Amino acid sequence: MKELLLCKYGEIVLKGANRAFFENLLCRELKFRAARHGNFTISRSQSTIYIEPQDDDADIDGMLEATLKVFGIVGVSRAAVCEKNMDDIRALAKAYIPQFMAGAKTFKCEAKRSDKRFPLGSPQIAAEIGGEILSVCPRLKVDVNNPDVVVRVEIREFGAYIHAGQYKGAGGMPLGSNGKGLLLLSGGIDSPVAGWMMAKRGVKIEALHFESYPYTSEQARDKVLDLAGIVAGWAGSIRVHVISLTHVQEELKRACEEDYFTLLLRRFMMRLAERAAREFECGALITGESVGQVASQTMEAMAVTGAVVSMPIFRPCVGMDKEEIIQIARKIDTFETSILPFEDCCTVFTPRHPRTRPELCKVEAQEALVDVDALLEEAWATMYHVNVRPDGSRAFWEKRD
Ligand code: ATP
Ligand code: MG
Repeated sequence: MKELLLCKYGEIVLKGANRAFFENLLCRELKFRAARHGNFTISRSQSTIYIEPQDDDADIDGMLEATLKVFGIVGVSRAAVCEKNMDDIRALAKAYIPQFMAGAKTFKCEAKRSDKRFPLGSPQIAAEIGGEILSVCPRLKVDVNNPDVVVRVEIREFGAYIHAGQYKGAGGMPLGSNGKGLLLLSGGIDSPVAGWMMAKRGVKIEALHFESYPYTSEQARDKVLDLAGIVAGWAGSIRVHVISLTHVQEELKRACEEDYFTLLLRRFMMRLAERAAREFECGALITGESVGQVASQTMEAMAVTGAVVSMPIFRPCVGMDKEEIIQIARKIDTFETSILPFEDCCTVFTPRHPRTRPELCKVEAQEALVDVDALLEEAWATMYHVNVRPDGSRAFWEKRD
């Protein structure tokens, strides 16, 4: 019996003339991921992508799991295929479907006939195949309104397909279909979620992390790379650029009023992030900020920190409650890593009374007490790069000019 995966895609069906561009990106991503699971062919027809194993070594379970993390796909069915005639379809239904009925009490059978030359109509196909399934699973009952399992027969261009149930796909848009963004990645809960959300919209991710060694530890940095690895499971390999803010923080502490530390630090971060985004050809910055969550995320504080950059800043968590962000963090499996207790550079030298309604002119006056340009250059020179792959493995990466 020949099994394969049928993938349905969502929003890109609506893309009109650009549709092929999105479909090609999606197929390319699937091919790339399939390579780890064996020999598969990937083709498309009638708004469905077919992933077919080419030999017995191809790991269809592994490929199914990988496919569920590919943005742009809304549903995946594990199906069996046969010739387009009722005898073969009946035999296949009896042999293939019972394994999916363990624990089910009710089912219904639906048919879709996209090959209109097939002699039977959809209701007839559904009734006949439903009958065959009942003959081998006599304890099952038909329930057309709320069945435990939906069996589908699809008469398509190249064959007849039968499957029982569809796995929910990751949704969103194919990776790379909406440019590249630079994620400011901390070790917290919010920024990995923000990166995942933008990747889901087709944005390829690069990441920038600020450390403050020795005030922050190597474990804190490793935790960030672990988080990047988890997000990479969905978003593909992520290059993480790491910059040290140690001297910036020491200088701010030496020269400026404590209440402004966090705001001033965040302005340094944003400037360096914009420079990195331009260097690595990213069209936007991405942060995990959520309005009102902490002192530096009031509307006024965000205005003061956003004022130093001219490129768009995407804040996909901005209108979400912490609980909603945590829900996504659990779903994408970053939560348990995010809550490991390591310090972040934002928590080093935290002011006791941070400004929540800062005035730009006062922030600028504080900033004038340090040599901004020199500090930026010095911080920029500390940058190193780590490429984090979807399996979590890492390699230091050298930028070549
Ligand atoms: P998170 O949970 O993402 O750390 P947070 O609620 O702790 O966010 P802040 O620490 O104020 O909030 O940071 C706001 C945003 O600034 C983060 O979501 C992240 O995008 C960015 N950021 C904070 N710290 C760092 C860092 N050390 N390196 C890179 N980006 C950072
Ligand atoms: Mg944080």
